[in-house]
Amino acid sequence: MGKAINESKTKPYGQATAFEDTAGGRTGRGLLNMNSLPNREDSDLTLGLMELRRDPMYRRIPEERRVRYAERSLNDGYEAAEAAERLAIGELLERAGIAVRFDGASGGLFGSALRAQIDWTGKVPRIVVYRESMRQLAEAASAFPGTFGELTAEAAADIHLAHEYYHWLEYTRGVFTAERLDPVEIRFGPWKRRASVRQCGEIAAHAFAKRLLKLTHLPNLLDYLYLMHIGELNKEAFDEEMEKCREASGSGRRHMV
Ligand SMILES: [Zn+2]
Repeated sequence: MGKAINESKTKPYGQATAFEDTAGGRTGRGLLNMNSLPNREDSDLTLGLMELRRDPMYRRIPEERRVRYAERSLNDGYEAAEAAERLAIGELLERAGIAVRFDGASGGLFGSALRAQIDWTGKVPRIVVYRESMRQLAEAASAFPGTFGELTAEAAADIHLAHEYYHWLEYTRGVFTAERLDPVEIRFGPWKRRASVRQCGEIAAHAFAKRLLKLTHLPNLLDYLYLMHIGELNKEAFDEEMEKCREASGSGRRHMV
């Protein structure tokens, strides 16, 4: 029925992205080129495509269908948020009987900091949120004040709680967002295999959190702000990738990511 534990990690990279600045980078302090940030209307689709690009199957999705994968995933998340009927995330978790634990550590694992995870294998489903990661995200967001405004560590935690709650919704309904979209085909010589585009679930979870918490942008933008803040991602490279995704999401749909 899908994975039992969902994790969100700091490194927003999959095999499909190739713009990590490994040459020492620049320090992330300072203002982001605000022109690179999408306006509200196309923000979600642009950031949705940024997320889709992280999927190991990304290159297997036919070019002309990539925007559609992102759009349908976003809609899945929005619809779930509408169905939540304006309840606060704390209340949703309580009604669902999900326990929440805040862990003081950053949850570091193999070089990437864990932010939050849900485990539904036990009697009581449980979300663990890593406090230190939340503090780091809040600090990064405050270095780019034009993005999420004043984002506290508590608000960052709510984003992650909403994100994990969405995965729980997927699990309880028995159909994951990725399964609602066509799988892609992988061929190894005579062998054929079909695989789902799992990053679609991430896009939907971001869209759910954004709509539920009335955020200005999809929360995966936070990942990039963090990496720029700590100097692991070059701002110009980020701008460039965003521009590509924005062009791909444009009404003409002539440009492909
Ligand atoms: Zn997730």
